[in-house]
Amino acid sequence: MKGAILFDSTKCIGCEACVAACKEKNNLPAMIDPKLTAYTWTVVEQRNTAFIRRLCMHCESPTCASVCPVEAFRKEPSGPVIYDASRCIGCRYCIMACPFDVPKYQWDRAVPIVQKCDMCADRIKAGQQPACAAVCPTGATIFGDRDEMIQEARARLEAAPKAYVPKIYGLEEVGGTSVLMLSSIPFASLGIRPDLPLTPLPALTWKALSKVPDIVGVGGALLYGIWWITNRRIRVQEALAQEAAKKG
Ligand code: SF4
Ligand code: SF4
Ligand code: SF4
Repeated sequence: MKGAILFDSTKCIGCEACVAACKEKNNLPAMIDPKLTAYTWTVVEQRNTAFIRRLCMHCESPTCASVCPVEAFRKEPSGPVIYDASRCIGCRYCIMACPFDVPKYQWDRAVPIVQKCDMCADRIKAGQQPACAAVCPTGATIFGDRDEMIQEARARLEAAPKAYVPKIYGLEEVGGTSVLMLSSIPFASLGIRPDLPLTPLPALTWKALSKVPDIVGVGGALLYGIWWITNRRIRVQEALAQEAAKKG
């Protein structure tokens, strides 16, 4: 099954139970930042009279993965786009490339890593739904097979055409996403980008990045690059081990 989250803004009451569940599930600090940060992986924003969730859109062809020179990001067949901190070299191309401004860096840490929603990939693997979908009291956030979520979204649009703008956001944007959205007001009014192409971005992004010098060159620069990456990976591993030990 390829999973997807369906968020229906018309059903959202702004209770932030999804945010709290995400914090708890991922051992993140309880304080909710107003925007996505390395420590707040989803937020609920009020725009006009409606609420909108922000989280990783889990693109079908993720730009974060296509620009990462060391394959620290990958799209799982079950839907989530996941990040492997042990591979990351800290170049932050993913942060620059994401069309939804999602990945965030731990700027306050001695050994920073990138952080973002992972769609609760471990829960999905265990046959459970993401924590945010499991707690939503109104059904504004639900999870299921992507094709079924699309069918459900279409059924809602057909059943109450006056309650929605006639669009499933994420069906085609940037080649499709595994987070789909419905709304009663134009998505632009919710701060969701209406201008994204309906084809995957990776090819475009590679063209832009080809103008950025490679992180490793030849000769001395190559040796320094290898040393730096190896050293960083060791430091990331140590930092992750220390964090895991603290959590017990
Ligand atoms: S929303 Fe951004 S971080 Fe999430 S999968 Fe798409 S490109 Fe990657
Ligand atoms: S899917 Fe999981 S990681 Fe993503 S916002 Fe929901 S609870 Fe957080
Ligand atoms: S838990 Fe459901 S209703 Fe509450 S803010 Fe999140 S999406 Fe909206």
